[in-house]
Amino acid sequence: MFRGISASKGVAIGKAHLLDQSKFCIMKYNIAPDDVEGEISRLRTAIEKSKDQMLEIKQRAGKVADKYAVILDTYLLLLDDDILVNETIEKICKEQVNAEWALTQIHEKFTALFNNINDEYLKGKQDDLDLVVQGILRNLIGHHQESLSEIQEPVILIAHSLSASDTLIMPRSLILGLATEVGGKTSHLAIFASAMGIPAVVGVKDLTLKINSGDTIIVDGIDGHVLAHPSEKLLTHFQKKSESYALYQKKLLKNIHQPAETLDGRVIKLMANIESGHELNALKKFGAEGVGLYRTEFLYLGVDQLPTEEFLYENFKKVAQASDPYPVIFRTLDVGTDKPLRNLQLEEENNPALGLRGIRLSLVYPDIFICQLKAILRASLYGKVKILYPMIVSVSEIRKANQHLEKVKQELRDKQIPFNENIEIGAMIETPAAAICIDDILREVDFISIGTNDLIQYLLAVDRINENVAHIYQPFHPAVLKTLKKVIQAAQNHGKKVSICGELGGDPIATLLLIGLGQVDELSMDPHAIPKVKKILRKTSQQEAQAFAQKALSLKSVSEINQFIISEMKNKFPDDFDHNLDYLEESPLAPMDSEDEPENIF
Ligand code: PEP
Ligand code: MG
Repeated sequence: MFRGISASKGVAIGKAHLLDQSKFCIMKYNIAPDDVEGEISRLRTAIEKSKDQMLEIKQRAGKVADKYAVILDTYLLLLDDDILVNETIEKICKEQVNAEWALTQIHEKFTALFNNINDEYLKGKQDDLDLVVQGILRNLIGHHQESLSEIQEPVILIAHSLSASDTLIMPRSLILGLATEVGGKTSHLAIFASAMGIPAVVGVKDLTLKINSGDTIIVDGIDGHVLAHPSEKLLTHFQKKSESYALYQKKLLKNIHQPAETLDGRVIKLMANIESGHELNALKKFGAEGVGLYRTEFLYLGVDQLPTEEFLYENFKKVAQASDPYPVIFRTLDVGTDKPLRNLQLEEENNPALGLRGIRLSLVYPDIFICQLKAILRASLYGKVKILYPMIVSVSEIRKANQHLEKVKQELRDKQIPFNENIEIGAMIETPAAAICIDDILREVDFISIGTNDLIQYLLAVDRINENVAHIYQPFHPAVLKTLKKVIQAAQNHGKKVSICGELGGDPIATLLLIGLGQVDELSMDPHAIPKVKKILRKTSQQEAQAFAQKALSLKSVSEINQFIISEMKNKFPDDFDHNLDYLEESPLAPMDSEDEPENIF
């Protein structure tokens, strides 16, 4: 059994599909003069094969995502590149060396050139070239590497890591479960898996060394375990756990039409976090009252060209219309860390989480920002549209962003393009600076949305996607609770709406605490989480929640707070927390060493 971090709840049982992300070592050997022609033809055959493979993937990818098909066009162009091919052939002839070696040498030469080039766009083509060369080398060696889009049967995907672009192209309906070596609870992969309802475990050390494609494995996203070659007894146990979990989820769905209110009548809006228009169906299914966070950056990832205003407008309009009469909060572009932009050739940063991301990037590249603002404003006619600025650290960023917004509004007025003049503007509160200056920020905006994923990362100085420090990523750290209280209270004092849209907002173990900290108006989360959070809400009173939060705030250490929250929540809601769910009957797994048990309950 391998331990990791539970990233998306549920249990998956199936055959492993190990994503081969390896590179290989190329040996040099000399060839006889008579064999030179044969070597060149071997190279040409490998290139032709690469082209066929790319075309085939392109055809299949087109069905999954049009944008991915465009990326493949770039690869095809590189395969037709005369310089790469001709120089490799020249080297084979001149030095009488094998094709793999010649190609690797030419590739290295290009890499050195790319590194010295000032043109950022060309520099960015390096990754594409690497990928194409790896493909040709595989064909020369006879080693086939599958693309994610080639998966044709239900599998559990095992990988070192999966990028945001990988998640865009994988055939989601065929992915039963996911397990990766890297990542944390709030990494993009965890958010993606949870949004798709795919059980996932991340941060499992050396997993790819221990599992082969075709192995029967179990991904237990409830407790964060991966099991390979399970015995009959374990299989039966986990099948039951999977069925009971599915049944529990189904029962929860019964409350979706009931109001999200406490026993004493306090109403809290439960909204959805989405990353694309594809997730809109889930809104109705799980009873979401609108979109509390649309992470618009996913329209920019995995594509070569930046999206046009028209493309964004059509997408935003569709989302606004589908959510109407409920609101949609469009968060402006927030790339960085595990969401890198490939269509804007940015310098590689040593510390991307502290780098040019969120509103900083929008202010440095106003054209991109303005294009997005125009599209949102135009879409504002079709529903209750709001704008949210990410990664705010100062009021001046909000003011500068609003200046751009004003200019865009004026331009639309001049062109007689209608939009909602009174569109509401909000700031994400996800940095310590924003929390400390909360009163000043509240004077500049109509509402705030607390991004706990980043707020915890920056408050505790702990990388949210680094599995090595996942045990320090403690949502119930006293500093986090005190900060949340300060921010929520400030919003209440200013009469401004406050939402919580980080993963904590959708974690039912935190529901009582969060609503007890003050007047939280909205919780926005992965739509799958809504029914359970609603169930907790409906079984508690405001008074009870306040007393609960007060007690948690009085405790000094993370372990005391965790212990208090877990035991109280289990006591108050015996049917809803793991130890009492029927899927957690006596486990046949060996008990863990208590020294080993992490403090982290997430
Ligand atoms: C957050 O930081 O809590 C948040 C909601 O934004 P993201 O996870 O996209 O950084
Ligand atoms: Mg964030």
